[in-house]
Amino acid sequence: MKIGAARETFEGEARVAMTPDSAIQLQKLGHECFVETGAGKAAGFSDTAYEKAGVTVVGSEVDLFGAVDVVAKVRPPTEAEAELLRSGQTLISFFYPAQNKDLLERCKDQGATVVAMDMVPRISRAQKMDALSSMANIAGYRAVIEAGNNFGRFFTGQVTAAGKVPPAKVLVVGAGVAGLAAIGTATALGAITYAFDVRPEVAEQIESMGAEFVYLDFSETQTDGAATGGYAAPSSPEFREAQLKKFRELAPDMDIVITTALIPGRDAPVLWTKDMVEAMKPGSVIVDLAAERGGNCELTKADEKIVTDNGVTIVGYTDFPSRMAAQASTLYSTNIRHMLTDLTPGKDGVINHNMEDDVIRGATVTHEGAITFPPPPPKVQ
Ligand code: NAD
Repeated sequence: MKIGAARETFEGEARVAMTPDSAIQLQKLGHECFVETGAGKAAGFSDTAYEKAGVTVVGSEVDLFGAVDVVAKVRPPTEAEAELLRSGQTLISFFYPAQNKDLLERCKDQGATVVAMDMVPRISRAQKMDALSSMANIAGYRAVIEAGNNFGRFFTGQVTAAGKVPPAKVLVVGAGVAGLAAIGTATALGAITYAFDVRPEVAEQIESMGAEFVYLDFSETQTDGAATGGYAAPSSPEFREAQLKKFRELAPDMDIVITTALIPGRDAPVLWTKDMVEAMKPGSVIVDLAAERGGNCELTKADEKIVTDNGVTIVGYTDFPSRMAAQASTLYSTNIRHMLTDLTPGKDGVINHNMEDDVIRGATVTHEGAITFPPPPPKVQ
């Protein structure tokens, strides 16, 4: 089959869905690879690098969509891109079908099959295709780097001839994939790291990464927010109050706060309130990874960096993976390549879209002119 990566058209998006290396692997599956000119430029992959990897570079988006059987992208297609899809063609990209109902209809009407990378079931076998996790890992790492860039001091404590430097204190709120990556990065830089999550089972993971788990004074402590499937459920008002009380105690002492708390399908819970920001020391930094969904910090402005009157920097960028475009493209294109490996069981360049396969079924949101979202629950965990 012919597989091609389109240039991302979303403003500021620097990632690309196929790298020269992933193209080499796709060719080993018997596929022919294409890329739209300039698609990899912002991530550091030149047209020449693609050509050296045996990829055909085409001059425009229309040419790319016209030439290939499978279009690979990062962002969901725009209306204009969806219009270029045709019957029998497959699109593989992030899609967020629950939030993009009209787009889903449009792709179905075009007769295209859409594989949504955000819908890959979170089961062990599918981890190699779990693009949400690979991007969350980058976001967590980059959040700490961003915090450091805005923080006027060391992370690690030092005793120098010019004086003693205390280590920075970092609090990570929400210890999913991004939160754990942030904990690992902050700890590696020498900070004293604390972390909180409503799911009690992550306490061990937090501690194994060298951070201290923040316990609450609450009678049903640490059991309240846990739900099935590894995801958090909304907290009770009492639990939330206990959580906010603890954060109020911690606020004056923390130099950096990284928030990543999310509950699937909901707005981000507000956990770091205005009075907590006001209680923080000047020079402190908050990086809010939940900014796109409203923010965990009451004062976060999505896609902006602000400095409060008391000198606290609040970073609400929503494009952390794109800010590490080379790394993000490498991991994302590997996720896509693994998806295509499963879609090409014979390694003969022939795609077999097996809707009996839990992972392929889970990620497929339109197929042969029908909407196939939401999928049934996976049979195997
Ligand atoms: P996420 O981005 O959806 O949420 C981030 C974290 O915020 C979660 O840990 C959640 O418990 C926490 N949170 C929610 N409300 C909170 C609150 N009020 N206060 C503090 N923390 C709060 O999480 P994610 O990174 O997508 O991971 C979610 C789960 O999915 C985890 O159990 C993870 O291990 C699991 N997972 C499994 C796989 C796999 O098996 N392939 C892959 C990725 C993630």
